[in-house]
Order: sequence, then structure tokens, then C-alpha cells
Amino acid sequence: MRRIEGTRTLVHGQQAMHESGQLQSSKHNHSLTRKAGANLRAMHVLVTGGAGYIGSVTCEVLQEHRHTVCVVDDLSRGHRAAIPPGVPLEVCSILDAERMRAILERERPDGVLHFAASSLVGESMRDPGLYFRNNVGGMVSLLDACVEAGCRRVLLSSSAATYGDPDEVPIPEEAPTRPTNPYGESKRICEQMLEWYRRVHGIRYGSLRYFNAAGASVERGEDHEPETHLIPLALQAALGSGNALRVFGTDYQTEDGTCVRDYIHVVDLAEAHLLTLEKLQATERLVLNLGNGSGFSVLEVIRAVEAVTGRTVPWSAAPRREGDPPRLVASSARAREVLGWRPQFDSLERIVQTAADWMQEHPRGYEREPTG
Ligand code: UDP
Repeated sequence: MRRIEGTRTLVHGQQAMHESGQLQSSKHNHSLTRKAGANLRAMHVLVTGGAGYIGSVTCEVLQEHRHTVCVVDDLSRGHRAAIPPGVPLEVCSILDAERMRAILERERPDGVLHFAASSLVGESMRDPGLYFRNNVGGMVSLLDACVEAGCRRVLLSSSAATYGDPDEVPIPEEAPTRPTNPYGESKRICEQMLEWYRRVHGIRYGSLRYFNAAGASVERGEDHEPETHLIPLALQAALGSGNALRVFGTDYQTEDGTCVRDYIHVVDLAEAHLLTLEKLQATERLVLNLGNGSGFSVLEVIRAVEAVTGRTVPWSAAPRREGDPPRLVASSARAREVLGWRPQFDSLERIVQTAADWMQEHPRGYEREPTG
């Protein structure tokens, strides 16, 4: 497999496609120390779900910008080893209202980034109660703890799943929210809760509607057990470390019949959090889509994985996955305008390359370790 040689920078070197079709590293490393956080005084930030995929990369970016971070995670899905060195971990469920209150009182953070949640569409269709308990119940105990501790800035990991099957694509933030699965519904309820806590308690909030997070930093990547996401599964299929990929639905009303999604690099997502925290000094609420604005079908993702790895992805057609909307593509015009956010990873192949590099460096993910 082709891979990028490089230094231990936060994100992978940029690549150029040669006429030969070979992906090559360029000398220029992608640097994050540009706009994000430039005007922001050092803050103390509490990150729920900081042992998870997006949460841990965001901790890394926060540290890069000299903020102090503490993580609350129950390690039910996350990995202790994903938390950057020097960041303290409080092993605690966000459902434990008493402990959450005590932690917030002790830490008195300037802001909370709330990643801890159940986040799988398919699982939510089988067990909606899990989603309402964890995501909605967890939000209640977190927000009440914030109110009591006087923390007035909260960022929610929301989702494109709040839109359901949209009337227009790219989807603007004003589009109606009509979730097609309990996961999306739970995030919509969390957003509504934030608005009420703003009105009643003066909590400022950012609700960041992620499209499909993908890719890796040099140190941190995607390691779910079981893995259900398309890019890691397609990479595993290509590299022979996983089964043949099952393509869920080939009869959608899309160009090639497979679902279309907007893949956004996890470091670009992390950077948007810093910019949003900064913006909330002057604004009470921000509801923002975070995506690249380009849609790729499942078959196009397979082709990108094949181009990056130089190997074939074995796949077969499988029935649709319940709750999947056919097409989710962001309009990220608002985030670009309001935050000055510019995603650096604007090509699917570059995103996939970073995921492939991380997988190659971490063939067993974060080594399985006892939790607790
Ligand atoms: N998908 C697929 N096979 C898989 C996993 C995912 O065909 O093994 C499809 C899935 O139906 C969706 C897209 O890939 O259309 C992205 O799914 P993923 O689970 O990565 O993210 P989601 O869109 O659910 O957040």
C-alpha cells in the first residue's frame, strides 16, 4: 500500500496526484496553527466522550492551541489510549448526574464539548431506548451540571441525521428537521433542549451538525468495536483484514443506486469546534452544518479506497440498512461565513489516505485494554 512518510505532525502531509496516478507526499505539512483559536485566550475545556474518535482528535487540537483539557468518558466505546498524554480522564457516565455535577463544580470549565453519545443509525433502529436514554438523558444531567457550575458555553455534536430525507441538497441549516431514525431524533431533541437552556439559563451553545466524519490525524483514528462505518470497513476489505464489504442498498434514487454522503475530515471537524468556542464569546447560539459540500456514493468511496490502496475492494450488494436516507450533503456556507472555517481536506482520496495510513500504523487499533 502506498503511504505517506512523514514527521509526527498532527495531520498527514499533503499529497499530489502524479500523472502516473501515484499518490505522493508533498513537502508541505498541513498546519493547524492558522486561524482556529488565534484570538482565543487559553481556556479550560471539559470534553465528554474524549476517548472516542472525534472527541480524542479534538482534544489533540485543543492541546495544540494551548488550552487545558479534561475528559469525561465511561470507556464503553472509547479507548483510554486515544486520550492525548497529559489530559486527565474521569471515568464516568454522563448519566450519573451526581458525579457530573461534582466534576463540573470541581473543573469549572470555560466550555464543554459534548461528544459522549450513542451514534449508530442501524443500532438506533433496533434499540431506540438506548438512544433516548444515553443521548437525551445524558444531555439533561450534563446541562443541569453546567447550570449549577456556572458553565455557560456548550457545544453539541449534532448530526446530519437531524434532517432525515431532505427536500433539497446541499442542505442548508434552515431545512426542516425530520429524522428518519431514533439517533437523528435524539440529536434533534438535544438541540431543542439547548435552546430552552439558553432561554431559561443563558447557556450559549453551538450545535454542530456533522456529516460523515472520516480520516485520521497521525496519532488518532477510527477504532470502533464492532466497526460499522463505510471507510474503515472498505479499507479492511481491501487490505484483507476484514470481510468483503456489504453495500447496503443499490436501488436508491441516486446516480449509481447507492447512498450518497458528504465525508469530512476529522481534523477539519475538530478545528471547527475551536472556532465555534471562540465565536460564542460574541454570539449566543450557532447551528452549523459541517461538511465538505460534495456528495460521494458508496461505490465512489469504494473506488477511492481502491485508488489509495492499489487493491480491489471485494463487495456484494446487500439490502438497504433501515433508517438510511439516500442522500446527505451539507451546505457549509454558514460555517464558512460565520467562522471563517475552511476544511483543508477537500478531496475524498486525501481523506481516505489518512485513514489508510492510520490503519497501517495501528493494525489492531488502540490495543485492546481493560477498561475502567
Ligand atoms: N454502508 C454500506 N456498507 C457498510 C457500511 C456503510 O453500504 O458496511 C453505507 C451506509 O448504508 C451509508 C454509507 O455507507 O449509506 C455511510 O455509512 P456510515 O455507517 O459510514 O455512516 P452514516 O451515514 O450512517 O453516518
